[in-house]
Amino acid sequence: MLLKVRSESDELMAMRYLNMRMELTEKEKFHYLNLEKGYEGEVKFDRLAESLQQEVYIINDLLLEVNNSYFQIDTLIISQGVIHLLDIKNFQGDCYLESDKLYAVTTHREYKNPVDQLKRSATLYRQLLQNLKQNYLVEAYVIFINPEFTLYQAPLNQPIILPTQVNRFLKDLNNTPSKLNDGHKKLAQKLISLHQTNNPFTALPKYNYDQLQEGIYCKNCKSFLISIKNYDLVCGKCGCHEKVELAILRNIEEFKLLFPDRKITTQDIYNWCKLDLNRRTFCRVLKKNYSAYGNTSDTYYK
Ligand SMILES: [Zn+2]
Repeated sequence: MLLKVRSESDELMAMRYLNMRMELTEKEKFHYLNLEKGYEGEVKFDRLAESLQQEVYIINDLLLEVNNSYFQIDTLIISQGVIHLLDIKNFQGDCYLESDKLYAVTTHREYKNPVDQLKRSATLYRQLLQNLKQNYLVEAYVIFINPEFTLYQAPLNQPIILPTQVNRFLKDLNNTPSKLNDGHKKLAQKLISLHQTNNPFTALPKYNYDQLQEGIYCKNCKSFLISIKNYDLVCGKCGCHEKVELAILRNIEEFKLLFPDRKITTQDIYNWCKLDLNRRTFCRVLKKNYSAYGNTSDTYYK
C-alpha cells in the first residue's frame, strides 16, 4: 500500500523554471539534468513497485532528521519482517568501482559513490528507530534502475542491485509472505509525521527577478510564442491551447516558488505574465483563487 506518493521536489521544479527563464551555467545545467534524471529513475521504480502483491507499506521521498543530521530515503518499504531502505540511481553508461570509488569508464570522472551515502542513511535510520524504541531489521540497497548502466568490478558483498537484478529483487520481496499489524502502521505514520519539508540539501543558483525572462510559455512545448484567442492561450509553435485562467495560475505558482518571500500583487503578476490582457483579468484570477490581504491600495495575495 502506497502511503506517501512521490512528486517533483521544489528544487527540481525551481530548476526547471530557472532553466526556462535564464541562462544556467554549465555546472548548474548539469545539476539540473541530474535532478531530472534522478526523478525519472525514481518514478520508473515506483511503477515496478506497484506490482507488489504482499501487504507492505511504501513510503516515498522521506527526508528525516536525527541528532541534527539530515538524510533522504528515496523509497522505504515496510514489510512484516524487514524494512527496506532503497536509494534509486538512474546512472547510465559504463562505470567501475575501485577502492570504494566510482568512476566512469570512458572519462575516468569520479562520481560520489552512492553506497557511502546509503550507509550513512542506514546508520542514521537505525539510530532513529532506536530513539523510537522500535526493533526492526533494516536492509539498505542502492538500486541502479537504468538498463543502460553497467558496473564493472563490483564486489559481491556490496549492497547494490544492478539493472538485471531489479525484477528479481521485487519478485523475492513479493514471494516473502508479509502481514502487517498495528505496530507497522504506527511506525509508518510516525515516519511520515517526521518528514521534513525544508530540505537543507537544496542547491539553487543565485538569481534575482531582473535576470529572469518574464512571460508565459506553452505548457506542452515550452515555447514563449504565445498569443491569445478568445479565452485561450494558443502556442505559435505546437498549436496547444490552454485556458487563460489556468495559464495565469500556472505562472503564479512559478512566481511563488521562485520568490517565496515576495508578496504577490496584481501588478507583480501582470508584469510576470506579460500578456496582452487588462490588469483586471489578473486581479480577478488572483481574487478567485487566493486570499486577499492588506488594504485596497496595497492588496497582496496568498
Ligand atoms: Zn507549444
